[in-house]
Amino acid sequence: MRFDVVTIFPEVFEPVFRRGVVGRALQRGLLELHAHDLRDSTADRHRQVDDEPFGGGAGMVMKPEPIFAAVEAIRPQNPGPVVLMEPWGEVLTQDLARELSRQPGLIVICGRYEGIDDRVRQELADREISIGDYVLSGGEIPAMVLIDVVARLLPEVLGDEASLGQDAFAGPDGGYPQYTRPAQFRGLRVPDVLLSGDHGAIERWRRDHARTTGRAARDVSPAHRGQSDERH
Ligand code: SAH
Repeated sequence: MRFDVVTIFPEVFEPVFRRGVVGRALQRGLLELHAHDLRDSTADRHRQVDDEPFGGGAGMVMKPEPIFAAVEAIRPQNPGPVVLMEPWGEVLTQDLARELSRQPGLIVICGRYEGIDDRVRQELADREISIGDYVLSGGEIPAMVLIDVVARLLPEVLGDEASLGQDAFAGPDGGYPQYTRPAQFRGLRVPDVLLSGDHGAIERWRRDHARTTGRAARDVSPAHRGQSDERH
C-alpha cells in the first residue's frame, strides 16, 4: 500500500515511521510512504501556501491551487482516495481503518492555519476524516495516526499475524490484560490461570476479561475499563 502525504512539514514523518512495526514494513517494501512538501507545488516566487480569508476573520487559509497541483502530480502513482484530515470529518475507528486498508493507497492532505479553502473539500477530497472531537494545530499528527492504524492492519505488516486477532476491537477476545515476568511485582500477582499452562482455561479467562468485546471504540468508557480492572 502506498501513502502520499501533502503537508507543509514533510520532515516530521520520517522520524516517526523510521522504527517499529511500520518502519520495518517500509524497509521491507510492504509499504511506501511519500511526504510531499506543499511548497514544491507553488508557482510563485514566495512559495506561498496561505492567504487571508475572504469575508475577514482571524488567521490564514490554505490556498487551493498548490493543493490541487500536488494531488494531480501524485495521482498517476497513487490510485487511492484523497483523504482530508479535518476535525469535523468522520471519526476514525478500527472499522474505518479496516475499510481503508483494502485500498491500494491513500493520498492524505494535512491542513494548517485556520483551515483549507473549501474548494479542496468540494472537488478533491473523497473523504474527510477526524481523529477525534478536538482541534489540533495541524493535520500532520492526525495523518500519522491514520497511517499507523491502517498500516498495521495490512497482511504481513505485523509479522506475527496472530497478534492482529488479539487486538482490541479485533474479535471475541480483543484487548485482554497482558502480563510478563516477574510473576509477583510490588505485591501484585499475575493471575494464577496464566501460569497454569491450561490453554483452554487461559483462553476462557482472556475472553472473560476482553475489554472491547462487541463494542465500538467510543463505547469503551473509562467506567467500563474500571469494571474489568476490578475482576482480575
Ligand atoms: N479553524 C478550523 C481548525 C483548523 S485546525 C476549525 O474551526 O475547525 C488546522 C488543521 O488541523 C485542519 O485543517 C486539519 O487538517 C487539522 N486538524 C485539526 N484537528 C483535527 C482533528 N481532530 N482531526 C483531523 N485533523 C485535524
